[in-house]
Amino acid sequence: MTAAVRTTCPYCGVGCGVVASSDGAGGWAISGDKEHPANAGRLCSKGSALGETLGLDGRLLHPVVDGRQASWDEALATVADRFSDVIAEHGAQAVAFYVSGQLLTEDYYVANKLMKGFIGSANIDTNSRLCMASSVAGHRRAFGGDVVPGNYEDLELADLVVLVGSNLAWCHPVLYQRLIRAKSERGTRIVVIDPRRTATCDAADLHLAIRPGSDVLLFNGLLAHLGRAGAMDQDFIATCTNGFAEAFLSAGDDACDMDAVALGCGLTLGEIQEFYNLFTGNSKTVTVYSQGVNQSSRGTDKVNAIVNCHLATGRIGKSGMGPFSVTGQPNAMGGREVGGLANQLAAHMGFTPDDIDRVGRFWQAPRMAQREGLKAVDLFQAIEAGKIKALWVMATNPAVSLPDADRVNRALASCPFVVVSDCVGDTDTTAYADVLLPAAGWGEKDGTVTNSERRISRQRGFLPNPGEAKPDWWIISQVAARMGWSDAFAYQSPADIFAEHAALSAFENDGSRAFDIGALTGVDYDTLPPTQWPARKSSGGTARLFAEGGFPTPDARARFVTVQAATPAMSASAEYPFILNTGRIRDQWHTMTRTGLVPRLSSHIAEPFVALNPADAATLNLTDDDLAVLRSAQGDATLRIRVTRDQPQGQLFAPMHWNRHFSGNGGINALTAPVTDAISGQPELKHTPASLTPF
Ligand code: SF4
Repeated sequence: MTAAVRTTCPYCGVGCGVVASSDGAGGWAISGDKEHPANAGRLCSKGSALGETLGLDGRLLHPVVDGRQASWDEALATVADRFSDVIAEHGAQAVAFYVSGQLLTEDYYVANKLMKGFIGSANIDTNSRLCMASSVAGHRRAFGGDVVPGNYEDLELADLVVLVGSNLAWCHPVLYQRLIRAKSERGTRIVVIDPRRTATCDAADLHLAIRPGSDVLLFNGLLAHLGRAGAMDQDFIATCTNGFAEAFLSAGDDACDMDAVALGCGLTLGEIQEFYNLFTGNSKTVTVYSQGVNQSSRGTDKVNAIVNCHLATGRIGKSGMGPFSVTGQPNAMGGREVGGLANQLAAHMGFTPDDIDRVGRFWQAPRMAQREGLKAVDLFQAIEAGKIKALWVMATNPAVSLPDADRVNRALASCPFVVVSDCVGDTDTTAYADVLLPAAGWGEKDGTVTNSERRISRQRGFLPNPGEAKPDWWIISQVAARMGWSDAFAYQSPADIFAEHAALSAFENDGSRAFDIGALTGVDYDTLPPTQWPARKSSGGTARLFAEGGFPTPDARARFVTVQAATPAMSASAEYPFILNTGRIRDQWHTMTRTGLVPRLSSHIAEPFVALNPADAATLNLTDDDLAVLRSAQGDATLRIRVTRDQPQGQLFAPMHWNRHFSGNGGINALTAPVTDAISGQPELKHTPASLTPF
């Protein structure tokens, strides 16, 4: 019997530890790792079904070139030659990578190094752009770095947990279980701020069904109220922050009194007072925010409106206190650490001349990118415009998951050369590939991931690579070698790559530089226990940051950001009278290429749907289970109706998961608009004007 292997769940950003052990009958038993700090043995429905996703049905097992099985040699040479040809003829800006929070940190590191240091372009963006980009931008504005100050334990130690735009019960189930247990043991008060009533509201002491997009007004009103109530931490403001006076004055102008806030947020005065009094009266407060905040044309401002309230009260980095962004993907944070976004460099550096120079010298890079690259939505529009002539998609399915998906499909169809590396052979995106590269999947590959509380854990393989599948880091390194850079990409293992990544975090770094926040010198890949960065040799991991200031800004102070309430980019109209919101359901993950393999996960919700309020259903003469056509300016989909009081009037909700394999149409993102936050570039996936008519 094979010894048990300790690894990490490949789904959400909770990052639960998993133990895989042989069941003695040729299969694998999956259980929660009792020693992992994130989950202490717990798993949700998706994680506990992982053992049922390990079959080879649908796997991509061999390289494919122009539709026929090919050798690795031919496939790798084709990719290297075509990318080199495009770069020679059109320049480095004419090629791009679109990567994924499903990649391991080591895969991400190598892809970034190749594109940003050797090809000389920063046109590498990631599906994390759809997930966390607004929180990243908000944190960089406020803290000076892409840092989550606290940890999961804070949700258990808080007296008040405020959940903003987060259906934690379905999207981060094990963290929700921890919160519910704390509530039953110590009476934690829970406030849910979400336009619709979700499963998370079952545990809420107060549900604020705010008008979509009014979050900034609500938190500006809170900041003004904290001032009126004398609830500020004047000492923290004076010694650890800048910009308070401007932000406070502006918030007061924006949210001049509670009546104005209530009106603007679509709430009663009593609801506003109750929330503000709860926040004012509970110093141990954690505010959790997720996609309802991030996936917005004002997402960055929403993040800063929340963070302002925590800075004003000094509730940051102390046990049971802090603003807390929960990540959607298993490795969205690990990818960010190595510069996974088009506007970042590795080790938390940006595109300043100093950072470009430092990373370039560390890599001994022949052609460092000199400026930020194209963010996801802009990247695919550049492909459609003919500016990008070679694209490599790794471990993601943009034909379904990006907004205005039909346009993305047209862009992929028009791109002269498309490479897709994936474990799955037939996705909506692989259909456009000139070259398909079979990647090792969960249970096969080795590396690290970082969860929402900055905790780095190992993913470990316990299965052989099937067919000719290879790890992503190997595939990228082989292409780099064939493009002429074999020495710089001569990695023999993920451990080699992690060691280089850790060395970069310490390069010319005496601890005083801003990027020291991501120090990894105290992490040993081989023996790695789940560890929170920064992890220095001298001090090990770090549970919390910033309780006494020490922000990674030039003067070590946090910055209040002046933000003003604004409506979402698009409004309902006579033609499109509803607002369409999209999101996850409990038992599926992303575009269902893995969870769709497990029949029991479909017993919770078996098919795509659109949910609406009973009054709207009556007006449209629709009843439960009817079919209806949902339409926006971008596209349409025919969906089953769910009538529920959980939806406010005028608002629709549809899950994001189903693709053409499951639904017969292009999925809900055929309807969502390619409108983005001007700072973060994150798309507004939760606010698309739409119409609904009986089928
Ligand atoms: Fe996996 Fe997230 Fe479920 Fe944990 S909560 S088992 S990380 S999907």
